[in-house]
Formats: sequence, C-alpha cells, structure tokens
Amino acid sequence: MLDPTDWPAFRALSHAALDDALDYLAGIRDRPAWQPVPDAVQARLAEPLPQDPTPLADVYREFVQSIQPYNSGNIHPRFFGWVQGSGTPTGALADLLAATMNPNVGGRNHGAVYVERAVIEWSRELFGFPDGASGVLTTGTSAANLIAVLVARTKVLGSHVRETGVNIEGGRLIAYASSATHGCVRRAFEVSGLGSASLRVLATDSLHRIDPATVARSIEEDRAVGNRPFLIVGNAGTVDVGAIDPLDELASLAEREGLWFHVDGAYGASAMMAPSIAPKLRGIERADSIAFDFHKWLQVPYEAGILLVRDGALHRATFASTPNYLTRMPRGLASGEPWFTDFTLDLSRGFKALKVWFTIKEHGAKRLGAAMEENVRQAKLMGNLIDESDAFELLAPVQLNVVCFRYRPDHLEEGPLDRLNDEIVIRLQESGEAVTSSTTVGARRAIRVCIVNQRTTDDDVRITLAAIERIGNALASAP
Ligand SMILES: *Cc1c(COP(=O)(O)O)cnc(C)c1O
Repeated sequence: MLDPTDWPAFRALSHAALDDALDYLAGIRDRPAWQPVPDAVQARLAEPLPQDPTPLADVYREFVQSIQPYNSGNIHPRFFGWVQGSGTPTGALADLLAATMNPNVGGRNHGAVYVERAVIEWSRELFGFPDGASGVLTTGTSAANLIAVLVARTKVLGSHVRETGVNIEGGRLIAYASSATHGCVRRAFEVSGLGSASLRVLATDSLHRIDPATVARSIEEDRAVGNRPFLIVGNAGTVDVGAIDPLDELASLAEREGLWFHVDGAYGASAMMAPSIAPKLRGIERADSIAFDFHKWLQVPYEAGILLVRDGALHRATFASTPNYLTRMPRGLASGEPWFTDFTLDLSRGFKALKVWFTIKEHGAKRLGAAMEENVRQAKLMGNLIDESDAFELLAPVQLNVVCFRYRPDHLEEGPLDRLNDEIVIRLQESGEAVTSSTTVGARRAIRVCIVNQRTTDDDVRITLAAIERIGNALASAP
C-alpha cells in the first residue's frame, strides 16, 4: 500500500538523493556554518496536516530547498558550540542501512540485538568493567544519567521501591555533585521523584573540579541530621570548561562510605581510547555506572548514548517486567534473553547500535582516539594564541578540548564587556564563518569554544579567532 509502485523511479530518485547528500557533505566547507531559517521558509514548514499525496520528487525538492540549507551547523569544520559531534559519512550510511532493516531492538532474537550487545561489550572492555556488568544504548547521556539515578535508588531502597515509590520517612536520599555538573542530572532527580532537593550541588576548586574533602564533610553533615547519602556523581569532562573531577578519590570515598559512584562522561569518557588523555580519567574504571555518548566525541550521528552498570542484576531489577504480551520463549523470535527493554524505559527501540558498530569497526579505537587527541591539541593551540594576543583574555585554563575566553578592549567595564562578548558570539554565528557558544565562567560572560569536531584543522582555529577579533574590533570601535 505504501511501498513504491514504480521501483525503478524510486531507485533513480534515491540514488540521486544519496549523490546529493554526499555532495552536501563533501562541500561542507563551502557553505555557511549556520544561517537563520528565513520567515518564508518557517511559514512554509508550518503547513497544516497534508491530507492528499504529494509526489515524492516534490517532497524531496522541498527538503533540498527548505530544510537542508538551514542545518544547525555541527557538521561544519568551524562549529564549536556547546558539545556537539560532527558525525561521519559512514555513520550516515549505517543509519540508512539500519532504517532499511527497521528492526525493533527492544529485545527478542535477531541480528540487531547481537550488534548492540557487541557495542556494549566493547564499551565494557574499554573501562574494564567485569563480567556481569550490563549496558544499554540510550538516546543520550541525559537518559543514561536518569537510568543511573534510578538504579542507584534501587540499590539503596530495594526493588520494592518500584511499587511503594520513594518516601523520605527513613531519611531523605542525598546525592553529591559539583556545581559544574550538567543540568540533566538535576532533571534526573526532578523526574525520578527523588526531587532536586536530594542533590547537593558543591562548589568547585580553581580548576572547576569537585573537592572530595567537601563531599566527605557534606556526607557527614547529612548523616548527622538523619539524611541518607546514597550517590556521588563525578564528571569526566564538564560541559562548561572540560574539567575532570578527581575520579579515583571519589571512587575511594564512595567505597568507604558505601555510596553509589556514577560518572557522567558524556563526551570525556570516550577519551579512554586516546592514550594521552586516558590517564586523566583514572578511577573511572571503579565506577558503579558510567554514562557517555557516542554522538559527541566519537562522531556517531545523533542519537546514541550508553549506560554501563557494574551490577547488571541490579540494573535489570530496576526495570524488568514480563507482561503476557512480552512472554519469553525458549526458542524462536521471542527468545534471546535478556531483552534490552528490561534495562531501560523504552520498549520499542531503534537500531542505533549499527552506526556505532560501523564507526568503531571502520576506524578502530586507535584512530578515534587520535582524532580526540587532535582536538585537545587544537584547543591548546587556541589557548596559546589567546595568551599571546592583546585582544583576548583566557577565562579558564585549557584542560581538555574547551577554551573559554573573552575579547577584551582596554576601555570597557565588566557589564558592557559581558554584553559585548555575547554580541560577538551572535554576530559570529550570523556571519556563517564559525559557531561558538556563550557561557558564564565565575561571574564573567565567556566565548566558549568546544572542539569535538573531526573536521577541524589548525587553520579553522586561526580563522575563527581572527573572525572574533575582527567582529570585536568593529563593535568596540562603533560609537
Ligand atoms: C551533553 C552532556 C550531557 C547530556 O547528554 P545528551 O546526550 O545531550 O543527553 C550530560 N553531561 C555532559 C557533561 C554533557 O556534555
């Protein structure tokens, strides 16, 4: 009913679309990093529900004209905003192939399940997690962090909490994380029903890391007033400046105090593949759970994250249930225990694992790691250029792949300086030359460059700094 009636015509259009898509990727440098979606295009896309068919060629033309040019920009070599991976052509190919298979990877016994298991096994191996550890692919680290909080809750309250819900009669459950922790961790507390009041947000040191002594003191204070400390969240690469918490010390503290130790390694954890960065992550292998993304520094197209849990049985006990319509069988398609749906919120799940599998197979951990090291080197290069320049001021030490700085003409006070730097970031985006984001470091507004981009060259770093200086000079000298 919905398949093509004219396969040769569909084939011709598909081949042409694929060729166009490859030209689009190969020519990425020649297009703006970002451009606004014109009002007319926004209006066209806001059309009412189409009732009648449209020829596929017309639908495709509309995509080419109204959608494809207005990309968010993260595939461009000078995109440095937030923490966004750039993807690879191979990842796109794998996604196309996965969609042609269109399996539901909630569970059962079919090829895609074994691919996801392979990807989980590789991840387990990367961190030296033991046999019996579990894992599940997620939409991203936000989802993986939420699942981790739920498993940690099961650990301390037992799986009957699934029935009773959380109540604070035996003492409020308390978790500890630094003020540099990503906002999705707070949201995990909000939506899990534990409440964000259960998350202690602790001050960081001059390198934006949590201080284990402060955590220890907080735990003691909470115990003294009848609260129940249960979880420490460590960062492997904070979103603002790329700081890595002292993971080994946090692991020891958690062990001593009998708390769950979770690591949010959204982009930093994958640097285990990079020999020069991995030592900075020491202690991550002792975590009870690790969340990270394939769609950031591993360049897999969106969306693909993962949660690894050391105690797989506990992970399963947090989600598993078998309603009649999901009865498991010893053979046939309904076999293949354990099912992924027993480890996560979703029943229907796409074949995200294939693009991860293709990416890791094609490049291998060594080349993926080398690409990350290249980005760290480029961030250092940018930091050095900023240090050497009179126009700029570095606002945080370059520890990994993130550079926070500001344009600083002599005559401006803090307030106008903040506004000037925010305006520079907007104008840079509007120029299409490059994309950075903005953040606040201490009390100062910063231009934030995060390099998780396999397409970036040293020249791109220089071009971006030059563009920022040019825009800054123009703004600062304007009356
Ligand atoms: C990006 C990021 C997240 C959120 O991950 P998503 O994949 O966007 O859901 C969490 N923590 C850190 C440190 C991040 O950089």
